[in-house]
Amino acid sequence: MQVLFADLKKQYLSIKGEIDFAINSVINESAFIKGKYVESFEKNFADFVGVKHCIGVGNGTDAIFITLKCLGVGVGDEVIVPANSFIATSEAVTLTGAKPVFVDCNEFYNIDSNKIEAAITPKTKAIIPVHLYGQPADMDEIMQIANGKGLTVIEDAAQAHGAEFKGKKVGTFGVATTFSFYPGKNLGAYGDGGAVVMNDDKLAEKIRMFANHGRIGKYNHEFEGVNSRLDGLQAAILDIKLMHLDAWTKSRIVAANKYDDGLRNLVQIPTMLQGANSVYHLYVIQVEDRDQVRSALKDKGIETGIHYPIPLPLLNAYKYLNYTVRDFPTAAGAADKILSLPMHENLTIEEQGYVIEAVTNIV
Ligand SMILES: *Cc1c(COP(=O)(O)O)cnc(C)c1O
Repeated sequence: MQVLFADLKKQYLSIKGEIDFAINSVINESAFIKGKYVESFEKNFADFVGVKHCIGVGNGTDAIFITLKCLGVGVGDEVIVPANSFIATSEAVTLTGAKPVFVDCNEFYNIDSNKIEAAITPKTKAIIPVHLYGQPADMDEIMQIANGKGLTVIEDAAQAHGAEFKGKKVGTFGVATTFSFYPGKNLGAYGDGGAVVMNDDKLAEKIRMFANHGRIGKYNHEFEGVNSRLDGLQAAILDIKLMHLDAWTKSRIVAANKYDDGLRNLVQIPTMLQGANSVYHLYVIQVEDRDQVRSALKDKGIETGIHYPIPLPLLNAYKYLNYTVRDFPTAAGAADKILSLPMHENLTIEEQGYVIEAVTNIV
């Protein structure tokens, strides 16, 4: 049996009529940049998160960069980021001229709030918690630390559309929250896309202008910005998919619970912070001899992933910061054992049974 890690084709076929109609409408109306499809999605996504503003941008990396720029973060500043994330989180910090300062993760793979204070210096301006794998970071602790020190919190929710912490959606804690709509994310476009959401009117206006050349009117620019806009085709596609997202998330949770039950006694299954409701962008287990397990699963037709094989601060890209493995005992300790199993909303009971049986036979 073949078990795909994600199945975008199956998802498309399940909503083909709606998607094809939406794409045709955008093309027929030449609503490629800005326009009603973008406005509609921005409004619906802001409502989904439960905030006032949503600004569509080119991708999730730009979303972080633009937000930092509009908050005034730049040369001479430091921004605290988790050691365990995709490079976009820290890359966006560097792009502003600021310095990323990495903090180790906890047993939930998210930034360890107990280790944040030691990383704060007089130069620290912001903290970017990432809701990794779809599980909310410890937002109570993080907000308390940030508020105590006068720091800004930007949530990176690229993997966590719809996740909740203590009954509140991610995206409602920080001053602004960034999302990615990369095709493989829980809410994915058919190309690149991203968004920033927030309640602050002034910040929203600034971000909207910055993402569109600092423009206030046609050929009238208040300041220099960048060209990073969510396009009409992607917005129309995302608007359709958003209507299905809650049902898809439920399916992911059902699948995660089934993995939990089947694998609990065999491997280290994901554990959840009290009050955190994950949307299971990824289902990550820990196994000894991970690479062997992974290749044995591949031989049985099962696709898996590793998120991420090298903690960010130990990448060559950050060699200049002179970190060592000892600075990140939890992230570095997990990096050799983590394995992401197939996870998407159309995973069948048969496919999951096959994966569980294969893992059982291998470990
Ligand atoms: C995907 C991702 C991003 C970047 O999003 P892009 O749309 O690919 O630029 C940022 N942060 C995290 C945690 C991600 O997983």
